[in-house]
Amino acid sequence: MAKILNIQQVAKSFKGGTKKIMVLNDITFEIESGDTFSIVGPSGSGKTTLLGLCAGLDRPDSGTIILCGEDISKLNEDERAGLRNQKVGFVFQDFQLLPTLTALENVAVPLELQGAKNAKSKAMELLDKVGLADRYDHYPSQLSGGEQQRVAVARAFSNNPDILFADEPTGNLDVTTGENVVELLFNLNKELGTTLVIVTHDLELAQKTQKILKLKGGTIVSQESGKQW
Ligand code: ADP
Repeated sequence: MAKILNIQQVAKSFKGGTKKIMVLNDITFEIESGDTFSIVGPSGSGKTTLLGLCAGLDRPDSGTIILCGEDISKLNEDERAGLRNQKVGFVFQDFQLLPTLTALENVAVPLELQGAKNAKSKAMELLDKVGLADRYDHYPSQLSGGEQQRVAVARAFSNNPDILFADEPTGNLDVTTGENVVELLFNLNKELGTTLVIVTHDLELAQKTQKILKLKGGTIVSQESGKQW
């Protein structure tokens, strides 16, 4: 199977006052195309930082990151943004929907900005797929947390991404609602073949993925197979 992400000896530090704080060190792993993959570890272990590097939101201090065949550690910000628009989707813990736009507009507007034709009908199709056919005209404040996260999932899939990164996607949801959102993500992985990379501190959720990467203090402590869905 082809590798969709290949990370070799990545390190990342941030400035903390006059000091440099090492946040990730000697990170090496690969993700197969179409896999479900989780990154777990205690708070502060570097999960979100690693996800941001994998997705090209930030650059490593050293090491290489090959995402969808491109060495993103060598690309500038515009080039990385271009790759993200074409091939990458994101889901965040706090949904990050625009409060002044309806559910439909939250999905359609990013598509329109990318010059997509039929943005509205594509957005409707996606909202139907996530079970929100009757919520097109609702604003985020009129939707439950689970429904907001479904809109965010529809938006994340709007560019037909090869890989979807989700940062604590169930963190703001109750257990049952969180399970429903996770089931939706796994169904989309099966149906569309989209690689799924999930940061979570929920070990039960991690066990549903094919591979689990454990971080502690910015280094990898283990890479295991999950029990899977
Ligand atoms: P996790 O997601 O596992 O909770 P993070 O990746 O958010 O961990 O953070 C790892 C460490 O990096 C923390 O100590 C955090 O304070 C630090 N950190 C993250 N982002 C920045 C930043 N932009 N500037 C300085 N320190 C940061």
